[in-house]
Amino acid sequence: MNEAVDQGHSRTPPGRLFRKYLYSIVTLAFAALAINTGFDVWFSYREQKQLLAATQREQAASAAIQIGQFIGQIENQIRWLARLPAELSTNEDERLNAIRLMRLSPAIAELTELDAQGREQVRVSRRIADRIGSNEDHSSSAAFRGANESLAYYGPVYFFGDTEPFMTIATRGIGREPNVVIAEVNLRFIWDLVAGIRVGNTGKAYVVDRLGVLIAHPDLWPALRRSDLSRHTDVRAALDGVGPPAGGLIKEDFSGQRVLSTYATVPSLGWLVFVELPLSEAYAPIYASIGRSTFLLIALLAIATLVSLWLSRRMTVPIQMLTQGARRIESGDLKLRLAIRTGDELEALGDQFNRMAAHLRESYATLERKVIERTSELEKARDHALAEHDAAERARSVAVAANETKSRFLAVVSHELRTPLNGVMGVLQLLDDGRLGEVQRRHLATAAASGETLIALVDAILEYARLEASTEALETRDFRLDQLIETAADLMRPQAFGKGLSFDLARDATVSTSVHGDPVRLNRILLNLIGNAIKFTPSGGISLSATAERHDDHALLRLVVRDTGIGIAPDMHERIFEDFVQADDSIARRFGGTGLGLAIARRLTRLMRGELTVESTPGKGSVFTLLVPLGHAASGVAQGAIAPPSRQRHVLLVDDDPVNCEVGEAILNRLGHRSAIARNGAEAVALAGNQPFDVILMDLHMPDMDGVEAAVRIRQLPLQPVPRIIVVTADVSRSTRERLAGAGITRVVSKPILINALREAIEDAPEPGATDAPLAPSALIDRHFLDDQKELLGALQITKLHRLLQETSEKLIADINAAAAAGDHKQLARYAHQLGSAASALGLVRLFDRCHDIELTAPSMSPDECQSAARELAALRAASMSALDDLLAPAEPRAVS
Ligand code: ADP
Repeated sequence: MNEAVDQGHSRTPPGRLFRKYLYSIVTLAFAALAINTGFDVWFSYREQKQLLAATQREQAASAAIQIGQFIGQIENQIRWLARLPAELSTNEDERLNAIRLMRLSPAIAELTELDAQGREQVRVSRRIADRIGSNEDHSSSAAFRGANESLAYYGPVYFFGDTEPFMTIATRGIGREPNVVIAEVNLRFIWDLVAGIRVGNTGKAYVVDRLGVLIAHPDLWPALRRSDLSRHTDVRAALDGVGPPAGGLIKEDFSGQRVLSTYATVPSLGWLVFVELPLSEAYAPIYASIGRSTFLLIALLAIATLVSLWLSRRMTVPIQMLTQGARRIESGDLKLRLAIRTGDELEALGDQFNRMAAHLRESYATLERKVIERTSELEKARDHALAEHDAAERARSVAVAANETKSRFLAVVSHELRTPLNGVMGVLQLLDDGRLGEVQRRHLATAAASGETLIALVDAILEYARLEASTEALETRDFRLDQLIETAADLMRPQAFGKGLSFDLARDATVSTSVHGDPVRLNRILLNLIGNAIKFTPSGGISLSATAERHDDHALLRLVVRDTGIGIAPDMHERIFEDFVQADDSIARRFGGTGLGLAIARRLTRLMRGELTVESTPGKGSVFTLLVPLGHAASGVAQGAIAPPSRQRHVLLVDDDPVNCEVGEAILNRLGHRSAIARNGAEAVALAGNQPFDVILMDLHMPDMDGVEAAVRIRQLPLQPVPRIIVVTADVSRSTRERLAGAGITRVVSKPILINALREAIEDAPEPGATDAPLAPSALIDRHFLDDQKELLGALQITKLHRLLQETSEKLIADINAAAAAGDHKQLARYAHQLGSAASALGLVRLFDRCHDIELTAPSMSPDECQSAARELAALRAASMSALDDLLAPAEPRAVS
């Protein structure tokens, strides 16, 4: 597998690199060859041209020399004739010499010998008869004069009979009276010479005399016409003595053909011998050479292409293999080996590449090993962490469960404590039938007070548990801040005075405002702080100051409770806010208390997003500061702007405290109701019996007869209309509510009385006649209690309890029926007690109440009364269970039966 990368696999179609190489090499080769061929052709053209021109020049020169020699020879011969002294020879001798000469030189057609005066002595001719001694005067002839002027005379060319060219040559002898010999020379020799010159295949030579007249030409006709060529520029230039160009001259000849031309001059005569060769012939070798070169070029190009193809492929294939290899490495295939066998740097590169891949493979292997090791380490660490987490989670669940158990324990315990306590309290109240002695009555009062304390303690614990479980929610509404503070001060002032302490209230004008918050909780905190201050101050006084800083979206309430009491040691400043902590154990003994008050106060403060702090010096006193942000009231609860009631009601106010009575009366007046006042329970019962009241506002804690008892007694009066009893108390604990529910009182207004709360409570009162609809769910069940239970125990537990109650109550009703039928009072009382207990667990107050009554009265019941009590309990049980079903319905859908 390692060696698997074969060339075939790596080969891909030639790409850009290949084309680039191919084009470059071919272009290079083509350029080189083309330049080379171009130069070659150019130089060979020039050489060829010069060679041709030189050859032509040679030919022209040679012809010129031959012509010169021919003429020179004739001239010498006639000069020899002229030099013969006249006095030494006769005319006849002369004639014979002439004939001899003409025999020697066939070109001479006629010889004439003149004496020094120009008279003809001898004439020998090939055409006409010889003439001797004619003395014909030739002294004026051009030949005679020319010969006398310069030793030799060359006449112009003329044609005899228009067929033969002739020329006159004359020369003069020597001595005093020199003869002049004139020869008519046939120039056919020159014609033959010119015709005999071979200039290539189609070239020609011709001769022009010194006047520019054509005198010899291979074609006879132009010569015979005596064509004048002096007008031709090249002829003109030659006649003017300009030498021929070295490479010859290109021009058009008579027939309009382009020719390469050159010439030579015959020196003695001034004639010009022209030699011309048609360019088509002159350049034929050059064209042939170009053709050959082109062919060679193409052939070489083809070879270059093939070679570059081969070279490019040789270059690009390994490069493509390298690219392919790089791609495969990139895709993670490190096992490849490139097989590049070019024996050059590319092969070295391929080897290097293979080594790199191998190196990478090794590195990866090492890395992988390290990753595996690290992963396993991490896994171990994770397992360890998970185990730790599990342990922590288990510990947490244990802690949560423990906390839940604690809360449940607290709830159940408080409830279980409260139920028998209620019984104890009830029995204690029943004990006082007016026949007790003083000592027994004191003991009874002590027992009742202890019971109250115990109930308060249980309530505190329960509330703390609720706060602990974070199920406590604020119940906010608009209220007057100044009213709340003043009422709290009014409530606590008597206690302070009772201990001989002063009580100052410094209320800033800023607190005369309406705010939005939870007045009940705020009141509770304030009462707790003032209560503690009074409790822990043996002498001196207490002061309460209040300010409200106004902000855009809230008012910041600052309440400071200052006392001159025993103070708190610095190390306890924070601890006193913890649960069940008291500054000193001896305090518990001296002052009582649970150590929960401040813990609850601080929790409530925090619930309101406020802060509760303390500054204190032992022996000098303490300062508790409460800072709470409160919202602005939506519309303001203005003191003077209370809407008139829908109907004016007659209200009986029952309170043993004169201050409270005054405050209450004032509030009722402001609300627009009529009021009457009773200072204790007995007075209340008496007044209610005498006058019709719509509403009775009942204080709970009163000496002799407390509010609950008074309410129960009033209930027993045959009144029309039946007054609606509203309890006014600072004790809003569940136990109190339960007690009230037991007495058929479901409406409670918390102390201090807040005007709006009171108005609502009174206005809420149903119209007379509709009072206390016996089977209304609200009258049957204490919803607050039920809600508390739901919060504390959870919906699941409630569902279970609900089911349990259904079963047990059904069974108990059957038992009660049986006991009543049998007239068994004891059993009836027992089962009624059991049913009451079971009913109280889910707040079935009316049922609990009746059970309680029947339990107490059973022993004195007649058999009929027993039966009717059993029926009443069965009906009440059915109605209560149905009301409970309705209340729990959303969480627990009722089965269709
Ligand atoms: P308790 O029910 O015992 O009063 P608190 O939580 O209200 O419980 O108070 C806790 C402890 O703080 C008290 O027992 C007392 O030792 C101390 N304490 C509270 N208020 C004052 C005060 N104004 N002066 C001195 N000690 C105080």
